[in-house]
Amino acid sequence: MLTLSNHLSNHIEEGSISTRKLASSLSRTLSKRSSCTPISVSSSPSCVTTFSVARHRAEAQIEEGALAARKAWLDLMPGQDLRTHSAGPDGNFFALCWPYGKTERVKLATEIIETLWLYDDLIEDVPHTEALKTHASLRDSFGSAKDVEKPSRKTVIAGLFKKFGDRMSKLDPKGTPRVIEALKSYLANYDSQKGGELPNIAEYTEYRILNVGFWIMESFMLWTMGITLDKAEQEMCHEFALSAGRAMGLTNDLYSWNVERNDRGERQWNAVPVIMESCHLSENDAIVFVKGLVIHHEQETRRLGLELQKRSGNSHKIQKYIKATGFMLGGNCFWSSSCPRYNPAVNEKDCDSTSSSSSA
Ligand SMILES: [Mg+2]
Repeated sequence: MLTLSNHLSNHIEEGSISTRKLASSLSRTLSKRSSCTPISVSSSPSCVTTFSVARHRAEAQIEEGALAARKAWLDLMPGQDLRTHSAGPDGNFFALCWPYGKTERVKLATEIIETLWLYDDLIEDVPHTEALKTHASLRDSFGSAKDVEKPSRKTVIAGLFKKFGDRMSKLDPKGTPRVIEALKSYLANYDSQKGGELPNIAEYTEYRILNVGFWIMESFMLWTMGITLDKAEQEMCHEFALSAGRAMGLTNDLYSWNVERNDRGERQWNAVPVIMESCHLSENDAIVFVKGLVIHHEQETRRLGLELQKRSGNSHKIQKYIKATGFMLGGNCFWSSSCPRYNPAVNEKDCDSTSSSSSA
């Protein structure tokens, strides 16, 4: 198995990390916790990321978080045919996105977001106005002291999410409020606009940052590593984070288009039809356009990361933040390029034997 510093050196030769200085410094930063497994993206020919990819050393434990979420969901709604979510042939999505997180925290975060994805599936078929009400009920349950009154399905789900907030606070009372805020903001806003209302790709891309769940992923990333950014640090990192969010949203669009092209619901969000319409391009040309945008925003994220590093006076904390964000984008792209959720042709048996998948 390659060590992480070997992996980074390989990337220097391949030119995928901008400067030798940054790579050498990052190798030192990560060498203390280099027990994750570097992954060569060449195993997935459709993967376009320019970031490094690694899998968490305790991937099997992290996958247990997804299995726990699916079991709790089926206990609430027995007999449901669940779609695959975080499972993948090269490991669980969150083990690839947060390879340096503390294991217990990545496992709990996996359980929470897997539950959000199951909730998304449930809400997809609900009319838009009804969905907004349900999101509001769930949002209010996070971190709320109010007890659930009626044992309806909606309020039971809200209770489930309240318990997640309590479990997170026990692990890290200081870092948890920012994650809860990101979850609440997502539930309040991600479904606030119907598809097709945004006129151009630039405006669409900005909206996608929140809509793809970037702030949830970013705040959980920090939480899993036990890092809390103060207000000044958050402000300093904001432009970099926005750029990473653009890359994440468009990466999701690129790979999820495989399934979304056949399922054009009222609230469907994808850059491919936006570009087809606004630039008068064929579907295939629009897909190539999106690939280019992913690379563009990844490149911009790396540029802003170098600037941020300098501006922070080479702060160790900010350096970890920049590096972890790069791994998150790389992991997101790599996983999306081969997961059964977006690639129904992938045989689910290719996923780990502990996979939580039950249907495509
Ligand atoms: Mg999508």
